[in-house]
Amino acid sequence: MTKTLNPIGVHALVWVGNTSPDDIRSAVRQTKESGFDLLELSLHDSDNLDVEAARAALVEADLAVACSRGLAFDADISSDDSSVVARGEQILHDSLDIVDRLGSKILTGALYSALGKYNQRLTPTGRGNVVTVLRSLAKEASGRGVSLGLEICNRYETNVVNTARDALRLADDIGEDNVFIHLDTYHMNIEEADLIQPVLDVRDRLGYVHIGENHRGYLGAGSINFPGFFQALARTGYTGPITFESFSSAVVSETLSNDLAVWRNMWDNGEDLAQAARTFIETHLAAAAHSQR
Ligand code: MN
Repeated sequence: MTKTLNPIGVHALVWVGNTSPDDIRSAVRQTKESGFDLLELSLHDSDNLDVEAARAALVEADLAVACSRGLAFDADISSDDSSVVARGEQILHDSLDIVDRLGSKILTGALYSALGKYNQRLTPTGRGNVVTVLRSLAKEASGRGVSLGLEICNRYETNVVNTARDALRLADDIGEDNVFIHLDTYHMNIEEADLIQPVLDVRDRLGYVHIGENHRGYLGAGSINFPGFFQALARTGYTGPITFESFSSAVVSETLSNDLAVWRNMWDNGEDLAQAARTFIETHLAAAAHSQR
């Protein structure tokens, strides 16, 4: 199969639940062996991440790396409580430092809030805090050549941005060129009217894509309209990373799996899953490119 324009990535939780040196080496090796261009590392467990060892393993394997994370309810920049906001801001700045030391150019995810079910709406004060903190983070990131992604998540995982429209408004208010939109088909399937118009609306502000099924298991074994989504990517000329994200109780991170409500065993064999996903993504990219001719 011909090489795609887009770097194709895989989330580390397809391989390993933790970030010990052995786990990172294993994730890097399997990502490379399965033919991916990029490994996405979640920074939720970054206290245990040996950054220098991870960077060396990534360089040796010639793999790109993207970093992602969400915040927590006690360290949440969308809070009205300034001490909670300050804890979230500190985590984001520490994360940016790790991103830079890993040699990554991308920090994305739910950078704007906790990853979890909110019991009330976002307040105007809370939204103002998000804008202020992310503007400052973006300015610092810019000096390091790093871009920040706003991953649009469903209503059960944030109350800040649930749709592409929400995220475009937030990015406008932040007003920094190195803030991009990150679409995830799993979340779009819950919140958007379809999987095409949001891509057209975001257009060249799209900087990162997560491909996930509606149940977050094997691609093609669910109900998501992937041909429409990939055709929209082709129409807008998107050439950025496309990362496969899937979760199963077969690979557990004590914190992240619970935040993401991973209660089911969707698969046992990460290698089979990932290779099927890469083929699925490449096939859909090729078909979409062909349909544009
Ligand atoms: Mn995602």
